Amino acid sequence: MLKGIPGSSGYGIGKVLIYHTFDPVVTERHCDAGHLFEQKESLNAALDSAKKELASIQKNLPPDKSAIFGAHIEILEDEAMLEDIKAMMEHDRSSAEWAVYSVYNTYIDVLKKGANEFMRQRADDLKDIRNRIIRNLRNEPELSLSALKEPVIVAAYDLLPSHAAVIDSSKVLGFLTETGGATSHAAILARGFGIPAVLGIPSLTKLLRDGQTAIADGFKGLVITDPDEEVLEQYRALKADYARDLEIDRKFLNMPSETKDGVKIPVSLNIGSSELPENAEFCDGIGLFRSEFLYMEKDALPDEQTQYAAYASVLRKMGGRPVILRTLDIGGDKTLPYIDLEKEQNPFLGNRAIRLCLSREALFRTQLRAALRALPHGNLNIMFPMIGSVEDFRKAKAVADSVWEELRGEGFPLERRVPLGIMVEIPAAALAADFLAKEADFASIGTNDLCQYAFAADRMNPAVAEYAHPLSAPMLRLIRQTVQAFEAQNKPVSVCGEMAGDKNAVHLLVGSGIRKLSVSASALGTVKRYLRACTISDCKTLFEKSVNCATEKEILELVSLFRQENGALQ
Ligand code: PEP
Ligand code: MG
Repeated sequence: MLKGIPGSSGYGIGKVLIYHTFDPVVTERHCDAGHLFEQKESLNAALDSAKKELASIQKNLPPDKSAIFGAHIEILEDEAMLEDIKAMMEHDRSSAEWAVYSVYNTYIDVLKKGANEFMRQRADDLKDIRNRIIRNLRNEPELSLSALKEPVIVAAYDLLPSHAAVIDSSKVLGFLTETGGATSHAAILARGFGIPAVLGIPSLTKLLRDGQTAIADGFKGLVITDPDEEVLEQYRALKADYARDLEIDRKFLNMPSETKDGVKIPVSLNIGSSELPENAEFCDGIGLFRSEFLYMEKDALPDEQTQYAAYASVLRKMGGRPVILRTLDIGGDKTLPYIDLEKEQNPFLGNRAIRLCLSREALFRTQLRAALRALPHGNLNIMFPMIGSVEDFRKAKAVADSVWEELRGEGFPLERRVPLGIMVEIPAAALAADFLAKEADFASIGTNDLCQYAFAADRMNPAVAEYAHPLSAPMLRLIRQTVQAFEAQNKPVSVCGEMAGDKNAVHLLVGSGIRKLSVSASALGTVKRYLRACTISDCKTLFEKSVNCATEKEILELVSLFRQENGALQ
């Protein structure tokens, strides 16, 4: 049995697939004249099957995600490169593998030295295609999350948004990773798909075998390998119970989000792309549009028009319901391959999110132009991540105001101002919430980062996961302080961190005064069900007791008792 961190609820039972990117070692080899024909035939067959693989991936993806694979086919068929490969084989008697490797590397080296990020990014594309051809030359099957042949539990070092962009979620029974924790982006992605996940399992990819049967227990953060029939039976029963529980939660989807005593608590969704989750019709808005995911799934910086189209599409789909677009939050565990980010000792304490945007104003302005241009399509709100002080907010607001003036000067019909809000995810912002509430139009509490910064426990590092306590007096006090400050200014404050979708936290948040939540799609029904089971005054009492508890264990005991008293909730 392997122990990790619960990343996404549920049970996955099936065969393991170790996912690693194919990065071959190729040595210089030459063949005699007699084998040249054979080598050429192998090359043609490999090119042919590589093209078929790409075409099949392309066919199964929506247009915005498939374009890159179309470009890969064009590169694969590039005549200049094919000529060079064939010339090397004929003149030097290079093996097909060595010729492909050498020619592609020559082009890769040129592109890597390219003057701009776009060219450098093309080098990664060439590397991808080179490896695809070589894999086909070796007749090795494709290991891509977009081309899974049967349902599997995927075990990987990490789960990146670029993997998620092409994932066929119907074939993934569970995710297991070596890095990450409960609030890492791998966990958030897994929850978005509703796939059970266990993260932060040391040496995972060395300890598991391809094809091995395993059980991923996303509740306890366990992986049981080679289970016997008795354990399998036990878990099949648990899985069936959980499916029934989810079925009950689903019945709450179309009910109003309100407490037992009728107080409205709008529940919005957290999203990462312009494609909305299936149950989006039942939410009260988009409480967090993680715009950086839009950037991360591309292979080059999306231009103003591309971003505008994505933002306008979400606004139109939400038809007047509020959409909170969070400006780019890159840095920490999120990088962009086509942007040179300086190596930092402590990336989570470094040039991340709003800081990065302020230091690269052109990038920030492009995003703000795209967002503001989309304003006429719906109910847009813009939120800045990682605000630590009033100064940070003023700087960000000044850029937004200047972009606003610029667009008006160009004749764009911007009639009303867009509400500008902040994420409260740095403890200093929670402690300065009274100042910030006077200037920002709204706030949303990012409990994932707030917890990592409050407890100085890296959210990506499984070794320190036990030091972060979301359900704790310090967190509840930071939240209460923020709520009271924004309430005093009559301005909205919500929670969009993972706590908002946590069964153990929902009632505490309501008890703290929070009246808006934003959650992963998979938690929408559950949260409505939990809200509808209790009154505001019950939640307040629970909060008042919990905020004075010395340990997380005591709070969990109170919550568990509270849930038992409100019988419908397990
Ligand atoms: C948070 O920090 O709680 C949050 C919602 O933002 P992210 O998880 O994207 O950092
Ligand atoms: Mg955050």
